[in-house]
Amino acid sequence: MSEIKLVLEQAIAQGGTTLKDFSQTDGKPGYFAQELQVYGRSGEPCRLCGNEIKEMKIGQRNTFFCDACQS
Ligand SMILES: [Zn+2]
Repeated sequence: MSEIKLVLEQAIAQGGTTLKDFSQTDGKPGYFAQELQVYGRSGEPCRLCGNEIKEMKIGQRNTFFCDACQS
């Protein structure tokens, strides 16, 4: 949880999450690409692994994530 919060705080500090930020420089989908998979789906099964999607509010922003897929 603390790592997820840290990543999000860093992203917000860097200007928020716009679509161009969803891919990392190596071309692999980054954290925010995964967030798109779970956005707005709190309590529903993750599309990737079936784990229940969690919701967390950070500042003015609701964030959705899967415990199992996050490292
Ligand atoms: Zn998952």
